[in-house]
Amino acid sequence: MPAPDTIVAIASAGGRGAVGVIRVSGADVPRIARELLGALPAPRHATLGSFRDAAGLPLDQGLALYFPGPASFTGEHVLELHGHGGVVVLDVLLRRLLELGCRLARPGEFSERAFCHGKLDIAQAEAVADLIDAGTAAAARAAVRSLRGEFSAHITALQAALTELRTQVEAHIDFSDEDLALPDRPALSAGLTRIQQTCAAVSAAAREGALLRDGLHVVIAGRPNAGKSSLLNRLAGEEVAIVSDLPGTTRDLLRQRLDLDGLTVNLTDTAGLRPAADRIEEEGIRRAAAEMRRADRILCVIDAQESPEQPGASANPWLAELPPDVPVTWVFNKIDLLGLAPRMQPGPTPQAPTRVYLSARTGAGVDGLKRHLRESAGYRGAEADVFSARRRHLDALASAREHLQAAATLLAAAREFDLFAEELRLAQRALGEITGEFTSEDLLGRIFASFCIGK
Ligand code: GDP
Repeated sequence: MPAPDTIVAIASAGGRGAVGVIRVSGADVPRIARELLGALPAPRHATLGSFRDAAGLPLDQGLALYFPGPASFTGEHVLELHGHGGVVVLDVLLRRLLELGCRLARPGEFSERAFCHGKLDIAQAEAVADLIDAGTAAAARAAVRSLRGEFSAHITALQAALTELRTQVEAHIDFSDEDLALPDRPALSAGLTRIQQTCAAVSAAAREGALLRDGLHVVIAGRPNAGKSSLLNRLAGEEVAIVSDLPGTTRDLLRQRLDLDGLTVNLTDTAGLRPAADRIEEEGIRRAAAEMRRADRILCVIDAQESPEQPGASANPWLAELPPDVPVTWVFNKIDLLGLAPRMQPGPTPQAPTRVYLSARTGAGVDGLKRHLRESAGYRGAEADVFSARRRHLDALASAREHLQAAATLLAAAREFDLFAEELRLAQRALGEITGEFTSEDLLGRIFASFCIGK
């Protein structure tokens, strides 16, 4: 197989900065370094030098770091150049490296090469991307845990336990004509139960990790003038929405990101839900409905003066438009006008809406609403032992759990062990998709392509 190209990319953020970093990886790095710097820098030592053009004239001056493969991020020879962070100076240096035979790296290609050389598994490579994109300190901490391999270690341990269980059964299937003792059913069942419990615990931590990464999507809905914009401003702690007492001022969607004790909340204020007065408002209402269907929770804001106990169906016909499968919280606003104290009243069943009484104007009860949002999302706080995870990981864990459940059912009912063993194999395969062991080329390509250039 021919040696892959030597790739180059600017690794620091775009724009002006004190320092700009260019990263090169591939077999040709030693030659390129000699031509650019005059000599190959000592491995893993920061060496001050001039970066030179073809005529030997300096283009910039900075630090060069040489990491001979395989002890490098990608597993190949890597050269890092830390020069000045101007747009033009970095571009000139990048062109020089292309002239020396490098090719521009595709997005995520450095991480892809690290994966191919066994330096990182996919979950770790994704954690690098998540760490860079982390929106809160808690999300960043969770990404570091995944990057250090905590998530992968849980998956690997689960797979090892599954291998152990499969060995016990598969020996019996393969040599069933020989005089082998039948597998010990209670021992298999106990082993399987332990694996199911661990898998459930890992899923719960991963779900929380995904919440940290993606944030909670909350939509504020309600009649015009109920106080939706005021509530958004109150939650955001700044004036983002236009508050007015003319009904229908919020015609489009307003979005705001909040950090609730480490939990990112993406808040969307919708256009007042009422018969549209004009075409623009009609479009706003259509978008509001689409946004509600995608939400993790809907805050229905109700003017407590109109209906202090139960939102009146006649005053709030839009309640009928709420998507049936999205959890709802009723926010009774403007309690200051009724002289009521802030309070929170959970619904009679876990599915029934909680009622929160508050005043967006005075801020009374708003902390309670924040607490309710955190708790209803299952968020345990910034210090919980969480690792970052993605939707794809949650799906793989869910699929593994389904196969484990199928295996448990088969073990309890049937005499055939081969179907049981097959379910265990499928569970193991689903877990392997998380670390990249069984991930298709296609999916790998898509995962890496979503990373930024230079990563
Ligand atoms: P929206 O149309 O639902 O977005 O409502 P706004 O946030 O624009 O508020 C409509 C009117 O109600 C404004 O005059 C607000 O100042 C007022 N308002 C909002 N919340 C409260 C509250 O908690 N108490 C009182 N007294 N007035 C409020």
